[in-house]
Amino acid sequence: MWLMENSKSTITRKTFRKQEPDVLGKTIASTPCLPVAQIHGLLVDKESRCQHYHSPLDIVALKCYDCQKYYACYQCHDHIEDHRFRAYPCHLRQDKVVICGVCLHEMTIENYQKSVSCPHCHSRFNPACSKHYDIYFAK
Ligand SMILES: [Zn+2]
Ligand SMILES: [Zn+2]
Ligand SMILES: [Zn+2]
Repeated sequence: MWLMENSKSTITRKTFRKQEPDVLGKTIASTPCLPVAQIHGLLVDKESRCQHYHSPLDIVALKCYDCQKYYACYQCHDHIEDHRFRAYPCHLRQDKVVICGVCLHEMTIENYQKSVSCPHCHSRFNPACSKHYDIYFAK
């Protein structure tokens, strides 16, 4: 009889599993239903300045056409990803490919090229960035 009791106890399942808080999944989303865009790169601050470009005006990040991720600059991208930064085709006018590092407002290429500052938070953009249009936008 004690044998049966014993075998019963061995099939008792452990029903509780310890819930660990997810420390890896850090989120910057303020509204839970809307996934907020993330900026990648060797960032030196929260406004998308990186090790390569970090003047007060270097606040925008740009999207690579290949991986569809925002990077602070193409050098950051090439350092982290295993492919070269792919310029975004300009004819895809509806796509948002530039993001303000201050308020995370996303813009189309056209929006960005005609703005000297962020349409949302009015932070000034770096006018020297136009020198790099060929890297980020493909004609
Ligand atoms: Zn990429
Ligand atoms: Zn960089
Ligand atoms: Zn902004």
